[in-house]
Amino acid sequence: MRLKIWQAGEMVLRQAARSLAPGEIGSDAIQGLIDSMRETMRDAPGVGLAAPQVGVPLRVAVIEDPAEYIAMLPPERAAERGRAPVPFHVIINPELFAEGEESAEFFEGCLSVAGWTAMVGRALRVRVECLNERAEPVTIRAEGWYARILQHEIDHLNGTLYVDRMWPRSLMTTENYTRYWKNVSEQEFRNRCG
Ligand code: ZN
Repeated sequence: MRLKIWQAGEMVLRQAARSLAPGEIGSDAIQGLIDSMRETMRDAPGVGLAAPQVGVPLRVAVIEDPAEYIAMLPPERAAERGRAPVPFHVIINPELFAEGEESAEFFEGCLSVAGWTAMVGRALRVRVECLNERAEPVTIRAEGWYARILQHEIDHLNGTLYVDRMWPRSLMTTENYTRYWKNVSEQEFRNRCG
């Protein structure tokens, strides 16, 4: 079932979500939620969706970055972002650890802040300890765009939106991003607008 994606201003997007007990994960309610979140993310389309974004205050997110999406970017933009295909998977009760000091700054957007985009600095590499949809413990090591997706989705579980972390001067409509900046590097954007 396709769910409504809640927009900034809803309290559920600003509150810490609740952890799931491992025994809850196999329930029809949670498995149905995961199925609906997958359908909603693909329909949007998006590369990640956290349960608070569909009005459910639980520490669950789905992630998928298919090769077809990456192929829509100019190859040099995809390479800069370290964007590589990520198969569909579910993270539950994730704990996030930055690996190393390196960071990267790119434009990102959010399905719950529809129509806007801004530059956000994120750790380049992360480790995530979580459960999967079968309640099995999983360790994820990620870098590049996948690391950014994980940080963005885990922020949602803590009531944080990218606008809390963005470089405010870079905020723009996605329409204007597409019109003026989609083929310009972030470094060049900084040179012209910083
Ligand atoms: Zn988001």
